[in-house]
Amino acid sequence: MTRVFSGVKPTGHLTLGNYLGAMRRWAAEDQHRSDALFCVVDLHALTVDHDPARVRRLSRQAASLLLAAGLDPESCTVFVQSHVDEHARLSYVLECVATDGEMRRMIQYKEKAVRERGRGGSVRLSLLTYPVLMAADILAYGTDEVPVGEDQTQHVELARDLAVRFNQRYGHTFVVPRATGPAVAARVMNLQEPASKMGKSDDTGPGIVYLLDEPDVVRKKVGRAVTDSGRDVVYDREERAGLANLLEILAACTGGDPAELAGGYDSYGALKKDTAEAVVEVLRPVRQRHQELCADPGYVEDVLRDGAEKARAMARPTVDAAYRAIGLLPPV
Ligand code: ATP
Ligand code: MG
Repeated sequence: MTRVFSGVKPTGHLTLGNYLGAMRRWAAEDQHRSDALFCVVDLHALTVDHDPARVRRLSRQAASLLLAAGLDPESCTVFVQSHVDEHARLSYVLECVATDGEMRRMIQYKEKAVRERGRGGSVRLSLLTYPVLMAADILAYGTDEVPVGEDQTQHVELARDLAVRFNQRYGHTFVVPRATGPAVAARVMNLQEPASKMGKSDDTGPGIVYLLDEPDVVRKKVGRAVTDSGRDVVYDREERAGLANLLEILAACTGGDPAELAGGYDSYGALKKDTAEAVVEVLRPVRQRHQELCADPGYVEDVLRDGAEKARAMARPTVDAAYRAIGLLPPV
């Protein structure tokens, strides 16, 4: 059976981008057609300036939102990265296969390093090595497919490269994974800055729709989305980025095609209104279920405990095999 792995970082409140680009497919498709693991990748949240209490809070919230989005512990494994030591164990070994040049070429490293410096901070070494830990997350489970948004494809490519390189040097150990993306909304853009991806750790709140935003907040944010001074509604990602973003969001929420949907509108106002309502409807059940889960924290804890146990058992043999292959002495 196909093995699927993916995750979210508890670096902020989960967004519409996380949902449309990744989580929704995990729940609707991946968990049913494959042997899938979904993870709150909390170690990755330590790569940028962070508040420990906030990361803990966001980790619990992210786990609960994964379940609220429809992940069913009967159909997949849901767990927290730091509960399974194998990720960090394997990451070190993969650092011995990766090069510093490869790390410095990662687009996300460059972007986030600039942001950290801009916020007056220094750049943590873990921000540079983050893609190696992500490769470990993926390779530890013999993952075939990694369902992610477009922004993560470069990191999955790196995981592929490291798997191939390790296998060539030290003997076949890892399955070589590949990224899979959604048909539309693979890169949901910030509503206020349509040239930038909507990211949960970004500063511009009004341009980001959070999964737990109240319906009226969603309506306001979508209503105030930056478009352009044109009048006609056409789908053009290059020239009309703000408009294209709204059409993609609408398409993703209603199951339509962005270019076809454009033909049905002759004003931005009507498009924004329909898009806002479509987003509100898509998020409604997620918010509802999340509220129910908040009332039952014991359930989420049980899911995470069982998930970590299952994940550990799955990762251990592969990570042990990598330790042997690269030359480490088995424990006596
Ligand atoms: P951060 O700003 O901390 O990087 P993020 O919003 O980018 O947060 P991640 O935890 O890095 O979220 O990514 C979780 C998943 O959501 C990944 O599969 C990623 O590709 C996807 N994703 C994130 N942002 C978007 C977006 N704007 N559009 C589509 N998919 C997205
Ligand atoms: Mg990200």
